[in-house]
Amino acid sequence: MPDSLHLADAFGRRFPYLRLSVTDLCNFRCSYCLPDGYQGKSCDSYLSREEIGRLVRAFVELGVHKIRLTGGEPTIRPDFLELAKDISSIAGVRKLAFTTNGYKLADKAQSYYDSGLRHINISIDSLRPEQFEKITGHDRLADILEGLDVCLKTGFNSVKINTVLLKNLNDQELDSFIAFVSDKAVSLRFIELMRTGQNQDYFQAHHLPGTAVTERLLQLGWQLKPREGDSGPALEFIHKHSLGSIGLIAPYSKDFCKSCNRLRVSARGALHLCLFGEGGFSLRPWLEHDEQREALKDQILRLVNFKKSGHFLHDGNTGATPHLASIGG
Ligand code: SAM
Repeated sequence: MPDSLHLADAFGRRFPYLRLSVTDLCNFRCSYCLPDGYQGKSCDSYLSREEIGRLVRAFVELGVHKIRLTGGEPTIRPDFLELAKDISSIAGVRKLAFTTNGYKLADKAQSYYDSGLRHINISIDSLRPEQFEKITGHDRLADILEGLDVCLKTGFNSVKINTVLLKNLNDQELDSFIAFVSDKAVSLRFIELMRTGQNQDYFQAHHLPGTAVTERLLQLGWQLKPREGDSGPALEFIHKHSLGSIGLIAPYSKDFCKSCNRLRVSARGALHLCLFGEGGFSLRPWLEHDEQREALKDQILRLVNFKKSGHFLHDGNTGATPHLASIGG
């Protein structure tokens, strides 16, 4: 099996991890992402299953072994389960993960698992029903928590919770989140709110640096887990009395981009070298038939050289990303 040494950029970063958006449609209205819901119609120009198969094979031959399906909300794509089955059967895909808002999760968890998905990230921004509804536009917290419990019994290799840290909306819940994971084998990851093209005012009102989380965890005796080889920029904290762990994804922290280990492809087949870059490079012309595999790989290797050393979020430059549903977060 080729290793990820093949896919490296000019700064020596390696990319074993591909985040693949399969739709930009979403059925939630998270206040920091799509507060007015998805604007536009369902689109028939998303990559087809065949195109996705070609894309994944090429990335795997370049050393990628972890694929995350994301969106929009990936699970509302009608052929989501078939897609997952296709990808999980590709030799060399060692980790097939997805990120979901947890819609209908209790009913669907088993079918996700049976399709070969083994790692699930569920977005849960509040443990208080009214607050959850205020943030996501949906009164579904109880269903999602039930879905989480089903996932924990289904046998997924990892169950994670994504929680966007929001000043005056959920920052008072830090201790509740910590207590929540104490008896659950989950990793809850606080994500610092990121500024995008469409959430500038919201960002000003609700951004809170991740240091607020780190300080509280250290105060309560949590310890930073040593980083593993291929791990990305997330920090992970553990505590001897907690079954669950707490992570932190702090894109505004110093050196965040140095450990970037991921590339992204949008639902329409554009390679994005950074979540906050200036648009993507379409790979679609190289996805038309199987015989283009070598040319596709050459194209990916060539484009990766354009990856910049870091984002320019600190300067208020969010690149061309209007919201994270457009690329998949
Ligand atoms: N619909 C799925 C979900 O809700 O998890 C997957 C797509 S969503 C774009 C992926 C992750 O990005 C979610 O955990 C979401 O909370 C997070 N996200 C979206 N916009 C964000 C922002 N501006 N800052 C930080 N995280 C954000």
